[in-house]
Amino acid sequence: MPAVTRALGVSTLALIVGSVAGCGPARERPIGFDNVVLVTIDTLRADHLGAYGYPRPVSPFIDSLAAEGVRFDRTIASSSHTAPSHTSIFTAQHPARHGVLFNGVKLQPGIPTLASTFRDAGFDTAAFASVRFLRGSARGFETRNFHSRAGFRRAERTVDRALEWFESRDGDSRFFLWVHFFDVHSSNEKARPPADLLEVMRQDSRQRGEDLRGFLIQRHGISSAFLDGEKSRFSGMGSFERFDRYDAQIASVDRQLRRLFEGLQSSSQRSKTLFVVTADHGEGLGSHQYIGHGKHLYGEQIWVPMILYGGDGSFTPRIIEQRVRHVDLFPTIAELAGVAVDADALELEGRSLVPLMRGVKSEIVEPAFSQRRPADMVRLRGGWPDELVLVAQVDRFKYILHSVGDDELYDLAADPLELDNLIGTGLPEEDELAGWLARKYQWMVEHPLSESPNGVQIESEYVEELKALGYLN
Ligand SMILES: [Zn+2]
Repeated sequence: MPAVTRALGVSTLALIVGSVAGCGPARERPIGFDNVVLVTIDTLRADHLGAYGYPRPVSPFIDSLAAEGVRFDRTIASSSHTAPSHTSIFTAQHPARHGVLFNGVKLQPGIPTLASTFRDAGFDTAAFASVRFLRGSARGFETRNFHSRAGFRRAERTVDRALEWFESRDGDSRFFLWVHFFDVHSSNEKARPPADLLEVMRQDSRQRGEDLRGFLIQRHGISSAFLDGEKSRFSGMGSFERFDRYDAQIASVDRQLRRLFEGLQSSSQRSKTLFVVTADHGEGLGSHQYIGHGKHLYGEQIWVPMILYGGDGSFTPRIIEQRVRHVDLFPTIAELAGVAVDADALELEGRSLVPLMRGVKSEIVEPAFSQRRPADMVRLRGGWPDELVLVAQVDRFKYILHSVGDDELYDLAADPLELDNLIGTGLPEEDELAGWLARKYQWMVEHPLSESPNGVQIESEYVEELKALGYLN
């Protein structure tokens, strides 16, 4: 049976959303946060946080939020590229629907966002982002504060601006605040993490030595050849220098996030604020022999942290192992703030995670869907294949469809690093996931985006900035 026919028939992966089969929601405190703070940490792979098993001292504050809040153990981003992923967080739609496939592309009018929904519900809405090119994704915010020049604004300055805004408010109205940090994106030899934190990481590397090397090889799948190569790349600075810089940037953001949190809490306002911390995508760092992000959709690229913290006693601290998606955030945040949304009218592709947060087992079996950014001319010249790459991921298996070249199938339970391609070995999940992706692809064919992958228009005002950040040549 052809894959598309299979997909359109009844499948074991058919949608069953929110089936709770006889167990009512465990009663916790009434939902109803007054305010929401959404933090996105650009380029932060989940497994570099202590809360997700990283052994180095990088994220004490985020770890404390995770310990007292709800930590989603397996959150999948819709893309490994900044603007498409952020736009999926903001719209609860995948890139194939919202149409932002590249940085610098504007979200089309008419698609509601988290911010526009909260604005329409009477919230003050404010965006503080550390790069300029995300303006096109951030529709619906009344206060819009973006880095004004090429390059990025450090976390400390972005927190300064956000706290200035906060302190200037009259204090009564509810608010939805988005803060974006870009420091972790920059971990190459030009990166300038705070000197004290870089020194902490270098000392930690020296102390851990072979243990750290073994951890990176075994747990992150980074080859010893790659680690040896790093030594020459950062000549004279040691083989862990990239990791020291990446981790120092995380520690820097962690420090500023604490400052933001304390600044927002120190107000005389006694309102209740929900904090959401996530990342738009991860980073290669040598896993799958790749540094950077955007090109692949392996776990280190699209597995992101997601932590919800609501203050003392708001949530029963919980680790949720079930796979969830970025597109689930919009309806979740709205429900927690008591903002009604019509998921069908808004064409939301996610569903509220509140039942899961209350401990209700949910039969959610729709795969997480991710789409690679298309290769533009710069990347084609750099050797990227000119192909569509789509991913369907269920709790145990992950299928990567390549329109050119061989597909991939991984058993995440046996092979969490996605190294042993099981395609063609006769597993039933291969047909099921291929069929689901074929159906998704058929939808994309029937709903083409106005921009063809290589003819996409990047807003001219962003070209210099994207060049400075290394996205364009
Ligand atoms: Zn990004």
